Amino acid sequence: MTNTPVCVIGLGLIGGSVMRAAAAAGREVFGYNRSVDAVQAATADGFDATEDLDEALTRAAKENALIVLAVPGPALAQMLGRVRDLAPQCPLTDVTSVKSCVLDEVRAVGLLDRFVGGHPMAGTAESGWAAGDARLFVGAPWVISVDDHVDPDIWTLVMNLALDCGAVVVPARSDEHDAAAATISHLPHLLAEALAATAGEVPLAFALAAGSFRDGTRVAATAPDLVRAMCEANADQVLPVLDRTLHLLNLARAALAEGNPLTELVDAGHAARVRYDSFSRPEIVTIVVGENNWREELAAEGRAGGVIRSALPTLDSRG
Ligand code: NAD
Repeated sequence: MTNTPVCVIGLGLIGGSVMRAAAAAGREVFGYNRSVDAVQAATADGFDATEDLDEALTRAAKENALIVLAVPGPALAQMLGRVRDLAPQCPLTDVTSVKSCVLDEVRAVGLLDRFVGGHPMAGTAESGWAAGDARLFVGAPWVISVDDHVDPDIWTLVMNLALDCGAVVVPARSDEHDAAAATISHLPHLLAEALAATAGEVPLAFALAAGSFRDGTRVAATAPDLVRAMCEANADQVLPVLDRTLHLLNLARAALAEGNPLTELVDAGHAARVRYDSFSRPEIVTIVVGENNWREELAAEGRAGGVIRSALPTLDSRG
């Protein structure tokens, strides 16, 4: 199973890192990128890349490769249309930061039965082939969807790719992923943008800025199009957590304005951060992929913090 070739569509930060990591793990990997410069750079680095999408997908169909869609959300529909036309039988995954809307797009083109969504929770504020790193995913959570439709064999292929890239696998339903990602990823992006914009209006602020500002605004350096794509595509889930944060900040504002202590917000924030620091990640070991209720059981374990560190058995492998 782990020998299944990998076809990466979009060789930017994430796709380029998947290509490097899969190759480093000994996998056959090839890919497509629309820019000639990136393809030339990837080829010069010793990788198998083309700027001809149809060529990459035709080869994927011939080799029954696992196709990894690593383009930004707005480009997915176009790529999915070509996958449907040229490689409809290939197992298919993605790395998009929002999962429910991808599921809708995959369903709309009729590829749902071949698709298992993914989201490696790793990245930097850089973009493009040159930013990629074979070790980007080492130790990082890689969410793999356990939605009702997912096929156990394709799920196993995606799990093996994530593990080969050095990640730990977090099984989750797409809707639950999106609610959590709104809180720990999309909200931080909005807060970082607001913080950076606010400081940008204060004379002397940049001259004094040190660790707090640097850490709190790190993700504001991300390409604006990527930030907009993920926050806007997950608006339904971002709105309630944004409301909650604005409520907490308004309470803090009122306390400051009235000369009251900030105890409530600061104590609650500190306690939550301490809980996060000691959050345990038990290994998921007992579930057999494909057995009765395997998706529900994996979702429950993922919700409780469980992760997969080495490949779970499948019904076939257990004999
Ligand atoms: P990137 O800009 O580094 O790479 C994007 C790639 O998609 C490039 O190769 C670009 O040429 C290609 N592309 C863009 N528009 C295209 C189009 N219309 N047609 C064909 N190719 C197109 O971005 P990235 O950070 O690698 O992000 C790719 C995906 O990974 C996004 O869906 C993003 O949500 C997801 N993701 C990003 C991060 C992160 O931290 N950057 C983390 C996890 C997941």
